[in-house]
Amino acid sequence: MIQSLQQLCDFLQLNPQDLAIDTAPHFPLKVPEHFAGLMEKGNPDDPLLKQVLPLQQETETQPGFKRDPVGDLNANPIPSLIHKYHGRALLMTSPRCDVHCRYCFRRHFPYEQVQKNHWQSALHYLADHTNIEEVILSGGDPFTLSEPALCELIQQLEALPHLTTLRLHSRSPIVAPEKAAKPRLLQTLKQSRLQVVLVVHCNHPNELCPASAKLMQTYRDAGLTLLNQTVLLKDINDNVETLTQLSKKLFHQGILPYYCHLLDKVSGAAHFEVKKYQAWSLYTQLRQQLPGYLVPQFVEEIAGEPYKTVLTEPTQMDNA
Ligand SMILES: *Cc1c(COP(=O)(O)O)cnc(C)c1O
Ligand code: SF4
Repeated sequence: MIQSLQQLCDFLQLNPQDLAIDTAPHFPLKVPEHFAGLMEKGNPDDPLLKQVLPLQQETETQPGFKRDPVGDLNANPIPSLIHKYHGRALLMTSPRCDVHCRYCFRRHFPYEQVQKNHWQSALHYLADHTNIEEVILSGGDPFTLSEPALCELIQQLEALPHLTTLRLHSRSPIVAPEKAAKPRLLQTLKQSRLQVVLVVHCNHPNELCPASAKLMQTYRDAGLTLLNQTVLLKDINDNVETLTQLSKKLFHQGILPYYCHLLDKVSGAAHFEVKKYQAWSLYTQLRQQLPGYLVPQFVEEIAGEPYKTVLTEPTQMDNA
């Protein structure tokens, strides 16, 4: 795990003086060595590097960019559980991620609140709300928990008769595939009465490699449905070639594109924003280049809305 700028620059043969870096970021630098190994040496503009490098720009305030852009703090009926959408509830399973993505909408989230001892109150809430069919284990990243802890949680969820589906949201299989190979967890999921969906998070075709392909095969052998979510990021994946390659490469590894998210307007991430009219143009170009099942839904999360809003053609009124 790389957690210092010097270490990262040494590894990539870069001079920190050449980069406009925030040397003491509030959200610290964190990159697994595997992920750094997929970056091009000596290239300060590498699309994977840009996702993890803390820049001075993050400290600038920008109008419209907030600390809690998606209204999660108002949707917490109990600590660690977010019940915003019909039939689905999201459980924040871990206070950690294997990587710190600079654009993360949870970069200011009070993760101290996410404690294992909150699971009991979350489980009581789920038991009381029989209209919830699907539980999403999300982040931080559930794969950063120990296998026994994760398996125990899954078994407790299986005991709730109204649940039909278990979903895991994780970036670990992409950024740290060796850590994400969890035989005991896979055994538990394979035997589970619940339908299991794993949504990985991959933004660029360079993030997929032989190690991720091998890992995805083990997930498929365990009967998991594999989907991907992407965040549309300026100068990283905001062009049709990259997104086309990403969809094709995901499919080659057995993963279907699910969502392409417009950036959540979290303070510190303004330099990643892709405007709506550009996003719409990318979407229509992808529709022309790819079969429908390889085109993700372009969505944005608007606080207070009952589902993620699908992007429609922007009008001039949108000031997009
Ligand atoms: C994104 C999200 C979900 C899942 O939404 P889907 O459209 O089903 O993928 C559920 N709960 C919360 C709080 C979310 O942010
Ligand atoms: S893995 Fe997901 S939750 Fe974790 S820092 Fe990256 S975007 Fe945020």
